[in-house]
Amino acid sequence: METHKVQVALIGSGLGALTAAALLAKAGLQVAVLEQNNYPGGCASSYKRKGFWFETGATTLVGLDPHMPLRYLLEQTGIQLPAIRLELPMQVRLTDGTLITRYPDLEAWITEAERVFGEAGQRAFWEECYQISQKVWRTSLRQLSFPFSSVGDLWEALKAVEWSQLGLVPKAFGTVRDLLRKHGLLENARFVAFVDQQLLITAQNHHPEVNVLFGATALCYTLYGNYYVPGGLRKLSEGLVQYLEEHQGEMLYRRVVRQIVPQPAGAYLLDTDKGPVQAEFVVCGLPLNNVHQLFQHAPTSAKLQRYLLPPDQVNGALTWGLVFERTSTTPDLLHHQLHVPGKVPLLGSDSIFVSLSHPDDALRAPKGLCVASVSTHVARPQEQWIEEKQELEKWVVQFLAAQGFFHEDQVRFVQAATPGAWLEWTGRAWGQVGGYPQYQRIKPWQMKDARLDGKKAYLCGDTVYPGQGIPGVCLSGIIAAHKLLRDHFKDKVQLLHQ
Ligand SMILES: Cc1cc2nc3c(=O)[nH]c(=O)nc-3n(C[C@H](O)[C@H](O)[C@H](O)COP(=O)(O)OP(=O)(O)OC[C@H]3O[C@@H](n4cnc5c(N)ncnc54)[C@H](O)[C@@H]3O)c2cc1C
Repeated sequence: METHKVQVALIGSGLGALTAAALLAKAGLQVAVLEQNNYPGGCASSYKRKGFWFETGATTLVGLDPHMPLRYLLEQTGIQLPAIRLELPMQVRLTDGTLITRYPDLEAWITEAERVFGEAGQRAFWEECYQISQKVWRTSLRQLSFPFSSVGDLWEALKAVEWSQLGLVPKAFGTVRDLLRKHGLLENARFVAFVDQQLLITAQNHHPEVNVLFGATALCYTLYGNYYVPGGLRKLSEGLVQYLEEHQGEMLYRRVVRQIVPQPAGAYLLDTDKGPVQAEFVVCGLPLNNVHQLFQHAPTSAKLQRYLLPPDQVNGALTWGLVFERTSTTPDLLHHQLHVPGKVPLLGSDSIFVSLSHPDDALRAPKGLCVASVSTHVARPQEQWIEEKQELEKWVVQFLAAQGFFHEDQVRFVQAATPGAWLEWTGRAWGQVGGYPQYQRIKPWQMKDARLDGKKAYLCGDTVYPGQGIPGVCLSGIIAAHKLLRDHFKDKVQLLHQ
């Protein structure tokens, strides 16, 4: 079979890899994205069933404010994303029925938090979190050489440093538990339960484990612009694909990469199910556990070992797609975290996350109908191979009907997808979702940086720095593209303004 030759092969079309691909294409490199599926976007995409568009995984979108990665990407490429800014980003319903509105304005949010959790400590806690989150966002795009893996990285960092931002460094040693203790909130069990469920959807772990820098930023997610994309999040990856195709890029769908073999002359040979691909550069946009498998006979594999997390330390997800007729009690607000009294049956998770299609979004569902994407975490996905899909479909309908989302007899469609389905859709090891959870022992600079082998292979995606979520993987793609260009095409870096 003839070998297909490309300059840069990007593996996977998640938003990390597509970001890197778009920036490299902008700099004039010839890129090809190899995707096992027949559509782009990975965990942040949409699929059509029965005439409705469902989100595959991600539903909330931030990152478009100043100093944020998605804004940078759109400005660099000129891609127009038809996004609607949400007036109210999210509501949370506690097990006792208390409804909490996560207002986007800090003052309004503090007043709400004090109403629900008592005045003690709330203002100081949220003001500190917000201040940290602002510094983190401002620093992230200035420090594209972080985490450092060369002297050049350090030099770049020194040139870009703002001394006020050095105040962030000590915070990297603490956890959200320390922050709660500092503000006298650790004994406030109701508040801690709220914080834990919010952290789980944004940092994949609970307060004793989540680093302050990530945790504070994650908890302030709703204090930044939250957006809805009519038609579904696929519009984001589709915009990037169109940009690539207009810049001599190639999308190779239904192309499973099975192995990557570094060649003595410096290139890489990719063994794919549709024949070999030779690339001068490789950018892997897959979880580290997958990348480790792809390099199985190369020294790179051994070097990656220390970054790998075993299956009992990552999360899977169970997702439901529903279509129902809107009623007078269907909430106008789109995103809801619902704490579940007595936990979700069969799974043992404490909350579900419900995202509704916008009432005016005729691209996803005709007027009067609503598409809901519901998800919950599944701990130890390798062990929990859930078979009882129908039981869970019945449960979600009854639970949401009891919460006033719809009447049970107005549900037109319901379908659950297990961690097994995730494994099939995304190819991610054990169907793991949302990247690596935050663990206390892992500091930001101990996360894997974008250089994979110190040669011509690079990494991005939600298991490398800075981790999960659309803004996180977008930043990882920006970092991978910048490092590749700085290492090998210094003259082209200036084509991307910082
Ligand atoms: C249920 C759920 C809800 C979420 N909610 C949100 C949210 O509301 N907001 C938010 O910001 N984030 C959310 N996230 C997280 C976010 O979606 C992910 O962190 C992010 O999209 C991951 O992007 P990635 O670049 O790491 O690649 P991935 O999305 O993992 O994409 C990897 C791609 O590689 C392909 N692939 C895998 N193996 C191979 C191979 N061998 N050869 C070729 N192709 C291959 C896959 O098919 C896939 O398309 C959610 C995730 C899940 C699962």
